[in-house]
Amino acid sequence: MKLEDIKKIAIVGAGAMGNQMAELFSRAGAYFVNLIDIEDTLVEKGLKAIDGRLERFFVAKGKITAEDKKAVMGRITGSSKLEDAVKDCDFVIEAVPEVLNLKREIFEKLDAHAPEGIVLASNTSTLNITDIAAATKRPDKVIGMHFFNPVSVMRLVEVVKGSHSSEETTALIQALATRLGKEPVVCRDTSYGFLANRAYEALRNEALQIVWEKVASPEDVDKSLKLGYNMPMGPLELGDLLGSWKRRAEMEADTMAALGPEKGRIHPIIRAMVRAGYYGGPGNKGIYDFWKEVLSKW
Ligand code: NAD
Repeated sequence: MKLEDIKKIAIVGAGAMGNQMAELFSRAGAYFVNLIDIEDTLVEKGLKAIDGRLERFFVAKGKITAEDKKAVMGRITGSSKLEDAVKDCDFVIEAVPEVLNLKREIFEKLDAHAPEGIVLASNTSTLNITDIAAATKRPDKVIGMHFFNPVSVMRLVEVVKGSHSSEETTALIQALATRLGKEPVVCRDTSYGFLANRAYEALRNEALQIVWEKVASPEDVDKSLKLGYNMPMGPLELGDLLGSWKRRAEMEADTMAALGPEKGRIHPIIRAMVRAGYYGGPGNKGIYDFWKEVLSKW
């Protein structure tokens, strides 16, 4: 299959990443998109999120017209019936929660119902593509296409090759990412967290260790990285923003299994924060509060 043969995309999962990807495929690639979730209400919620973002970040800022927005929304339909929704699409990307068995179940269904020759991609951040591909009879056409959040802003797409992903499939996904205005980087699926997240995790762990030793406050650690390395945001404020402390703690068993105890174990400060209810994320306290209210006085 060639890039020109792709006209209609199916996206499985209308949550945070799925609905942002639907918006990108329609807005930047002019693709027809079918956005799929388990219930109509969840599909509606995803479509509403797209509409709101297009209005706030594109129409209100003069980047697109109200007519353009109508056209972008007009290319996106929703469905809660995966089997029917993928029947006539030319490419599928999955964005359901990060649970291997759930993804394998979805890929088995996709393999049975989506056209034989098309590529099935996963937006997984950490799971092994070869494991996911093993649920299908077309492992050569299964690949990772890892977008970063927020999808319309972040330019990186990691193209993650499983053991059997073909060169043709890899080239197609690179071309697709480029068409969407992104910069693809290809890697193998051997490690947990692929490229950017794996390297970033090491940096963030050291930032956490500095705070844990009370060498400096989270604010000053972030400030040093922003001013010393031109980072737009420090790793600690980003952790607070995304709510990744709790999520990181929940992933510990998986990261230990994949990376071994030294790299996989969560930093003790994360355990202490999560125990004390400093989870990070919208509406929650995070490491900045933990420092002020607990650690600096401890
Ligand atoms: P999310 O929880 O916001 O959305 C997942 C959606 O999938 C939900 O709406 C859920 O109802 C739906 N879903 C569950 N089971 C389903 C099924 N059987 N069929 C169809 N839909 C189903 O999750 P998210 O943050 O969008 O993450 C999705 C994927 O993207 C994960 O693999 C995650 O690791 C990856 N990812 C997330 C981010 C991020 O910052 N959130 C960034 C990059 C990659």
